[in-house]
Amino acid sequence: MTETSTITSDIVVVGGGIAGLAMAARLAHRTAFTITVLDSDRAPEMPDETLQLRTTSLNSAALRLLEEAGVMAHLPAHFLTDFDRLEAGSRETPNALSFSAKDINLTRFGVFVENDRLRAALWQTLMSMAQVTLISESRLSSLQRHDDRVDGLLDDGRALNARLIIGADGARSHVRHLAGISSQQRDYAQEAMLINVRLAELPGHTTWQIFTPSGPVALLPLHDRQASLVWYDRPGQIQKRMSMDDDTLRSAILEAFPARLGGIEAILERGRFPIRRLHAQRYTGKRVALVGDAAHVIHPMAGQGINLGLADVLSLTEALEQESDPGTAQALSRYQRRQWPRNAAMLTGVEQLHHLFTLPFAPLRTLAERGLKGADRMAPVKRFMMSLATGQPLNNARGSEDHDAQP
Ligand SMILES: Cc1cc2nc3c(=O)[nH]c(=O)nc-3n(C[C@H](O)[C@H](O)[C@H](O)COP(=O)(O)OP(=O)(O)OC[C@H]3O[C@@H](n4cnc5c(N)ncnc54)[C@H](O)[C@@H]3O)c2cc1C
Repeated sequence: MTETSTITSDIVVVGGGIAGLAMAARLAHRTAFTITVLDSDRAPEMPDETLQLRTTSLNSAALRLLEEAGVMAHLPAHFLTDFDRLEAGSRETPNALSFSAKDINLTRFGVFVENDRLRAALWQTLMSMAQVTLISESRLSSLQRHDDRVDGLLDDGRALNARLIIGADGARSHVRHLAGISSQQRDYAQEAMLINVRLAELPGHTTWQIFTPSGPVALLPLHDRQASLVWYDRPGQIQKRMSMDDDTLRSAILEAFPARLGGIEAILERGRFPIRRLHAQRYTGKRVALVGDAAHVIHPMAGQGINLGLADVLSLTEALEQESDPGTAQALSRYQRRQWPRNAAMLTGVEQLHHLFTLPFAPLRTLAERGLKGADRMAPVKRFMMSLATGQPLNNARGSEDHDAQP
């Protein structure tokens, strides 16, 4: 049915993924602005006990944001698996790079949680916030930006009126497109296969990654002796494994993954995801800001996509919270200046790690592996890895905060 009413809010967040919902929760927690969240998908429902396919790491900064917004009340601790140790290496030197949360006086680096469970918890949190309106199964189709406001149309005929539009609508962001913001993109010609398994032994609290010539393999420990295995490879190879029966896939995993994986009691679920890199040239335009994958997509091997998106949420809220009008050029440029260089540094760092381990010639790879072995004692590498784990910005990025970092 076509509706003709107008939705009026101070801020409209387009996209109710984890970044968009967290954006609304943080704004509602820290400001008095009215907020509408619009998502093209159905409203999320809390999954039953069954392990969901997609899992994400949350670093300590991300966890703090969720705690402060009251989201943890909807996420029982049982579904959060702590990790307190990170290890990376090659087959020959599996824990060449290894560090523990204790090294920086933390009890854990963060947790693993299922994406759908987190999204449902965010949605439930927002349902009880009076200043937030949630609209599902509705898509933004056009935008007109004026000096003092922005008007839009939804595909069901309703009109939008706001002072700021936040694009949190993912890698193919329509808001980014409508605002005329271009982006640098790269396809890695690689996919990630996610395989949920039940292990024979408890997986513990270490997450590890082994680099192989065709791409890394990784383990994310989860609750109830379950784990998410991540297997990066060329699309053809992933397609082959997707069509294997469970027994054949189990044998293939045991051959490719290191012996520390132990036995696999059951294969629970599997899925494949393309890997790409994207960085928007700017995060802001007239009365528009981008957060999350709409602004940047990073190789998932470092587990940073959501964490960077939640760092955007913190940064944009901080830029707006003292303003009476959330869409002024001055407020938006504070966000641009702070967040763009931080994320650019992170994207470059992860890109360099990716290159290091996908070098085409074996002699170069060996050199890279030796470099990794030495890296345990190398302060810059360690600082970068700690920054990934804790969500603290890299020092060199922090140094550029005061400069206008428009590319
Ligand atoms: C294999 C894999 C493993 C990963 N592991 C990790 C990890 O361990 N840690 C981590 O931090 N990150 C990880 N990531 C990255 C992470 O999954 C993404 O960064 C994150 O999901 C992006 O969230 P988002 O809310 O920005 O975008 P999305 O999840 O893409 O959400 C966008 C939302 O916008 C809606 N939408 C789209 N268009 C419109 C429109 N026109 N109108 C209205 N609504 C619209 C969609 O319905 C959707 O709900 C991983 C990614 C992959 C592929």
